[in-house]
Amino acid sequence: MTRPDTHPLLSALLTEVEQRNPAQPEFHQAVHEVLESLAPVLVERPHYAEPGLVERLLEPERQIIFRVPWQDDQGRVQVNRGFRIEFNSALGPYKGGLRFHPSVNLGIVKFLGFEQIFKNALTGLGIGGGKGGSDFDPHGRSDAEVMRFCQSFMTELQRHIGEHTDVPAGDIGVGGREIGYLFGQYRRITNRWEAGVLTGKGTTWGGSAIRPEATGYGNVLFAAAMLRERGEDLEGQTAVVSGSGNVALYTIEKLIALGANPLTCSDSGGYVIDEKGIDVALLQQIKEVERGRVSDYAERRGSSARYVPGGRVWDVPADVALPSATQNELDADAAATLIQNGVKVVSEGANMPTTPDALHLIQQAGVAFGPGKAANAGGVAVSALEMSQNHARTAWTRERVEDELTQIMNDIHRTCHDTADRYGAPGDYVTGANIAGFERVADAMLEQGVI
Ligand code: NDP
Repeated sequence: MTRPDTHPLLSALLTEVEQRNPAQPEFHQAVHEVLESLAPVLVERPHYAEPGLVERLLEPERQIIFRVPWQDDQGRVQVNRGFRIEFNSALGPYKGGLRFHPSVNLGIVKFLGFEQIFKNALTGLGIGGGKGGSDFDPHGRSDAEVMRFCQSFMTELQRHIGEHTDVPAGDIGVGGREIGYLFGQYRRITNRWEAGVLTGKGTTWGGSAIRPEATGYGNVLFAAAMLRERGEDLEGQTAVVSGSGNVALYTIEKLIALGANPLTCSDSGGYVIDEKGIDVALLQQIKEVERGRVSDYAERRGSSARYVPGGRVWDVPADVALPSATQNELDADAAATLIQNGVKVVSEGANMPTTPDALHLIQQAGVAFGPGKAANAGGVAVSALEMSQNHARTAWTRERVEDELTQIMNDIHRTCHDTADRYGAPGDYVTGANIAGFERVADAMLEQGVI
């Protein structure tokens, strides 16, 4: 990996992180991307380079790993591994989702938790950074199996979380169904109605309006703000979206609402291209109600849609690209294809979906690029609004939450844009997001002493 060698402290720290955290390439990648941006701020404001500050930021406050035993429908005992990384609580209780996917390991959860610190800081809403999950794969499992797994997972996790301590939410493989089972078990064990301990709850029992939609809607609002900066809007633009889960679904919905034409969606088996634009109601029925695949969408949609097994959405020419599935899904080859096809904006709905090589190509080509820690912050922002509603024992209207989300995304865009300008990197939202997030957390850490 090339070193952020513009500042000797940062270069030394990256070497140390790699040595102390072996075999965690995604964590190294996430740290590298942030450290690479910080040189100008350490030069201009040298008190941030004081011994121990960045070192503390790179070390999670607490790392929890636990066994999750459960019985499948055949009565066999299955054993999974659970994780919760409580990375940084300088700005508020740890906050970040739970991911259930077979690829989950310590390095993945640490990269996600590290990103979450800066993302949450950018929202300005008083939430620290954390993340968790398990290598459990919900695909193909019955509702009863998912419930037993969630109950076992929460039986251990409950001792570490709380509305003032650590507040998990959903991520890959964890949606409304899983949050329901997790909350039920938390309530049973603790004998407390503590609504603020989890977000993404059902709206009849403490959930916020717009929480399921917030990440996808927020990313589209961020992409629209980047386009506005270039004197354009989303009306009439074509878009490629990857994924077909929570984030992808509501990205597609918002694109349509703003007059754009989303042409694709995907899952780990392949992708769909729909010349007429994705029919979001059909996709939602298949994914959320029937828990089906995008190949089912192509079969039922008729002649406008085609399923491409094993392919990638980045081969479809479009004005806007919104990766919304998983980390490192958009590599240099895909970036080169997007650029060749005239893409104007790439905005990350997923966390770290763009590889470092792809990012450099996109930035060199002058394409507007929204990094996930800014562009997909709408989800955690509305989670924080859910916590506020829970504290006040009230429920805001859909309109109010959507107005707040729009304001927050525009503020994050402005903060990243202006911070990049201030540090001599106009139009570079990666630098802007990393520095602005860092300044907020670093100031709080310095004021709170060496802990
Ligand atoms: P979901 O589980 O709802 O959907 C995930 C989608 O991505 C599915 O279509 C899934 O396909 C696909 N996918 C997952 N892993 C892979 C893989 N290894 N290769 C190919 N496709 C894959 O998750 P979300 O929509 O909630 O999350 C998507 C991304 O957005 C993640 O990076 C997450 O961290 C990020 N994010 C989510 C937020 C939220 O509020 N939910 C907030 C901020 C970021 P398949 O079913 O075949 O696995």
